[in-house]
Amino acid sequence: MRTLSSYLVGSWQQQQPGANDRRTVLVNPATEEPLAEVGRAAELGRAVAYGRDVGGPALRAMSIRDRGELLQKLAKKLHERREELIEVAIKSGGNTRGDAKFDIDGATGVLAAYARLARDLGDGPWVIEDEAAPIMRTSKIRVQHVLLPRRGVAVHINAFNFPAWGMIGKAAVAWLAGVPVLSKPATSTSMLAHRIAEIIVESGLVPEGGFQLLMGSAGDLLDHLGPQDVVAFTGSARVGAIIRGHKNLVANNTRVNIEADSLNAVVLGPDVEEGSELFDLVIRDCAVEITQKAGQKCTATRRILVPLARLEEVREALVERLNDLAERAGNPASKGVRVGPLATAQQLQDARAGVAQLLADDGVSIVRGDPQRAEFTDIPGGKGYCFDPVLLEATAERAADPKASVHAVEVFGPVSTLLPYDGSVAQAAELISYGGGSLVSTVYSDDRKFTAAAIAALGPFLGRLVIADEKHAGGSFSPGCVFPQGNHGGPGRAGSGEELGGLGGLRLYLQRTAIQGGAGQLARIFGKKQDK
Ligand code: NAP
Repeated sequence: MRTLSSYLVGSWQQQQPGANDRRTVLVNPATEEPLAEVGRAAELGRAVAYGRDVGGPALRAMSIRDRGELLQKLAKKLHERREELIEVAIKSGGNTRGDAKFDIDGATGVLAAYARLARDLGDGPWVIEDEAAPIMRTSKIRVQHVLLPRRGVAVHINAFNFPAWGMIGKAAVAWLAGVPVLSKPATSTSMLAHRIAEIIVESGLVPEGGFQLLMGSAGDLLDHLGPQDVVAFTGSARVGAIIRGHKNLVANNTRVNIEADSLNAVVLGPDVEEGSELFDLVIRDCAVEITQKAGQKCTATRRILVPLARLEEVREALVERLNDLAERAGNPASKGVRVGPLATAQQLQDARAGVAQLLADDGVSIVRGDPQRAEFTDIPGGKGYCFDPVLLEATAERAADPKASVHAVEVFGPVSTLLPYDGSVAQAAELISYGGGSLVSTVYSDDRKFTAAAIAALGPFLGRLVIADEKHAGGSFSPGCVFPQGNHGGPGRAGSGEELGGLGGLRLYLQRTAIQGGAGQLARIFGKKQDK
């Protein structure tokens, strides 16, 4: 069986002697057919030093414009290999073709967006953040903030659900900032990340040391990081907490960004009536967010807030839509399958346990789906990790209980819960806040007062808020679509991190330094604004 090795210190690593016993076998999650194995890399301190000493200077020697061109060329390279990458994602990640495109096109989309942004950042060794500000009304002394590439390595630890977007979305931003990348994909779906890494290395576009890939466990990687390095982590709140509290990272105040769990909730405004385009959009979006990537999205909708008076019609329409999709759940390699399996046996076990936990609360019941379903399209013999889409419903009393499991347990699968509320912004905000901080919500309403009040009341608990109305229903995107122009991350439980969002995303990798000096001198050094 093929072993997928790490790319460290300028070469693909051979397996360490005796590492066999620690190998992980990757399987096709629809059929359990073994695909490849992943070993464990060693000497990670050398890799960190190599990134810092070789990759960092090489990237900083390029102008911002050149780094932007590098991103553009990489986007093109990956796009040229799109079909091949889709095949890998279907086989190794349980992705339907649509799921795979979402991940892979998302990756090239971030590269292209940051390539465009590069054109607005000037061509100096720094990015000028703002206009110079006088420190006193009468003084000629000014303060100007500039952003400078950190002299360390960007360590990227990614979750299993987006092997392409997770890896490339982070790397694009670090490269544009001028910081070398050491990327560690989640092991279970790392076959796609590995193939992308091979394409990056073959392309020769990223300078020596600017990109390294660590397959398998993170080992002692974090022990080698220092004050100029950056860790960007995406994954569970549990592992996020381990990383945040890592002794060496704490001792060095290493910059750490955490993107973790989220109990995203959408809100149906009281004005949205059955039969309207906006009502149909709610149903369409919810169905997409429950079933896309088999619900394994950090941005998936877990809680659906519906005014009590509309509950029956929403339930009926959503169940009908989910029934249709559930019939087409199965092997994503088969034509017509719309919902693929979960990524691993462990995810399947966790999803079943998670639904049981939600159901353990009084007043919560299943309105569609069978967590024990074993028959799925084109999967013989009960193999694979498919999970029937499940819709739950809570009573109004349970929905309003801050201790209810629905506000605490993230079931990482095609599972969501209908939560009746009284139709007020105040109660919607309260229910959303019980989730402890989320990545995203959508508010569906044509009532501008309701929407404006919702922005003010819900916003502090969210990293992103989509507002959807009848007029834009046709061109709207469901909440789980993350665009590189918008902030990705959320407060509290969601990790308190910030990624992407244009220039905001670059700040993670740049040191913001206030340059204080005479107005004339600052103007001569920085110009009023850098040339475009
Ligand atoms: P996970 O189990 O926390 O693993 C995430 C990553 O951390 C993997 O690469 C994993 O490596 C690595 N890891 C595990 N233990 C580690 C340690 N002690 N030190 C350093 N690295 C360690 O999460 P997952 O199961 O892959 O992903 C699902 C979770 O991610 C969900 O909860 C989801 O909500 C969240 N997520 C959040 C976002 C977001 O943007 N907020 C996006 C996607 C997913 P191995 O795979 O080798 O164990």
